[in-house]
Amino acid sequence: MPSQMEGEELLLPTELPAEHRSGFVAVLGKPNVGKTTLVNRLVGQKVGIVSPKPQTTRRRLRGILTLPQAQVIFIDTPGIHQPRHKLGEYMVEAAVATLGDVDLVVFLVDVSRPPTSEDEQIAALLRGRREVGKRSPVILVLNKMDLLPPQDVQPHSDAYLGLGVHEEWMMISATKGHNCDKLLDMILERLPLGPRYYPPEQYTDQEERFIVAELVREKALRHLEQEIPHSLAVAVEEFQERREDLVYIAATLYVEKASQKGIVLGAKGKMIKAIGSEARKEIESFLGKKVYLELWVKVKEQWRR
Ligand code: GDP
Ligand code: MG
Repeated sequence: MPSQMEGEELLLPTELPAEHRSGFVAVLGKPNVGKTTLVNRLVGQKVGIVSPKPQTTRRRLRGILTLPQAQVIFIDTPGIHQPRHKLGEYMVEAAVATLGDVDLVVFLVDVSRPPTSEDEQIAALLRGRREVGKRSPVILVLNKMDLLPPQDVQPHSDAYLGLGVHEEWMMISATKGHNCDKLLDMILERLPLGPRYYPPEQYTDQEERFIVAELVREKALRHLEQEIPHSLAVAVEEFQERREDLVYIAATLYVEKASQKGIVLGAKGKMIKAIGSEARKEIESFLGKKVYLELWVKVKEQWRR
């Protein structure tokens, strides 16, 4: 199992191979199926708390695996379960929100037991998602294979495969490590070509500000194309969780010349509005929360120094 920071030299971002892959992988599953255990194993470092008590992972956690040829950002979601009360409902919503723009979905189940209505609920959610045109592939992962002899596993695995939501599947044991390297290969093959989003030494992301800034910058660069090549920096000035489900974010876009400020703002502020609304949507799906995003544009000569 490749584990980051060991042995292999990681290249600088500018030297990454042309076929470098990267992406966000949502790890979905009802409580207690082993989501956090799996992410911890794949990332090779402890990023989340594992517990036999369901719903230890309240906040979504990102486990980041950096390899010479790829970077995978795992999003370990709070378990989805049937909403019986308000918090449950919130968690289902949060889990659905996580699915926003991920590149790949890992749907984790406990193969030592037959599927329950909770598994079916997640399957339904994944089917619904397909209907609205979200096409990120689903890998069905049958975990805890170590708990039963193969002949007893079979009826369960047949039932899970029968849910009909997966493109590929793999049977593993996250605690023992069986097939985890194969699963990782499967994940890597499915990732799109892309850059390294996080510095290689970072294996977890509690610094949400960083990626929020990157998302804003990405949207801005996309809208502005050639006009403001690289002379754009984004600083997240404020990041306040005003409620459990609402974050207020204020960010400043720095340009190098006064003439560029007008371009970023656009006529009647149209450009900055478009950038803001696109960035907000993506930040919401990244954080799994509603976001109030305020953007400012300032001139800061030679910020690159
Ligand atoms: P989560 O709620 O989906 O994040 O589940 P956790 O990762 O917290 O794991 C729940 C429990 O299942 C813990 O006690 C784990 O040790 C256990 N577990 C996870 N994966 C496996 C596995 O492959 N085999 C066995 N036997 N237990 C596992
Ligand atoms: Mg967990």
